[in-house]
Amino acid sequence: MINEPKIVEITEIIEETPTIKTFKFDWNFKTLGKPNPGEFVMVWNFSNEKPMSISQINDNELAISVKNIGKFTSELHELNVGDQIGIRGSYGHGFNNSFTGKRIIAIGGGVGMAPINAIASDLAANNEVSVISAAQTKDELLFLDSLENSGVDVNPCTDDGSFGFEGFATNCLESLLENATYDYAFVCGPEIMMKGIFEILEAANIPGQYSLERYMKCALGVCGQCCVDSEGWRICVEGPVFENTQIEQITEFAKYRRDAAGVKY
Ligand SMILES: Cc1cc2nc3c(=O)[nH]c(=O)nc-3n(C[C@H](O)[C@H](O)[C@H](O)COP(=O)(O)OP(=O)(O)OC[C@H]3O[C@@H](n4cnc5c(N)ncnc54)[C@H](O)[C@@H]3O)c2cc1C
Repeated sequence: MINEPKIVEITEIIEETPTIKTFKFDWNFKTLGKPNPGEFVMVWNFSNEKPMSISQINDNELAISVKNIGKFTSELHELNVGDQIGIRGSYGHGFNNSFTGKRIIAIGGGVGMAPINAIASDLAANNEVSVISAAQTKDELLFLDSLENSGVDVNPCTDDGSFGFEGFATNCLESLLENATYDYAFVCGPEIMMKGIFEILEAANIPGQYSLERYMKCALGVCGQCCVDSEGWRICVEGPVFENTQIEQITEFAKYRRDAAGVKY
């Protein structure tokens, strides 16, 4: 792991959806370390630095998938192949393989599909992996083809019913559970979605891991910006991935978070 940005060149840009682009860059696993699915990097565009999950882990190559929602992310979307960015990391406690059983359900909402793509493709070789890829509408669905090509059973799901299951990821999960059961789950998406998914999975006795987001500054566990109540766990070190038993102890889960000044909202 390195704690200063490594300057890399963007080797490929994929326009995944009208709002999300994937950026690929070389990453020498021997000298810079091989990240695990669920870990994140700090991305520096020479004016600001923000956290992004790793969405693909290939041979000496990584990818991030960025949703354009503000100043930093729109600046990233303006970059071209050959442009440079700084990458610091990888950081965090990612998804782990300490589960039993082979029937996996992985659920991603919106750009929350980024770390879900990395873990689902990683597990597909040795497990029966089903994915719910949820988005508001058809054009925003992520990674359907690439996941299918990895042998994953892909269940697209749109709020407006424009493609796949019509409804929220929670409704889609309930529908799948009518005819199937799973040993273990991986979840990432808007926290309100993860809360609904958590309740359904807990009721069905399906343990799992959930990836959370909080405002981050150092990503090193020093500044305390991303601590969550009530345990004070740092999302950048103890997280971003937490087991279902830990989620119960995060009292602010799906209730509130803190802005850059530490103020609750
Ligand atoms: C562990 C982790 C993994 C993430 N992975 C992805 C990913 O794979 N793809 C993706 O598109 N986005 C990801 N994000 C969110 C991403 O960091 C924000 O979308 C980005 O920082 C927004 O910056 P902006 O200037 O474009 O928008 P702004 O207008 O500044 O902010 C828009 C939103 O992004 C949040 N945000 C802004 N700055 C930060 C920050 N330093 N840390 C955390 N949140 C911030 C704000 O709270 C606000 O909700 C991740 C965040 C975390 C914490």
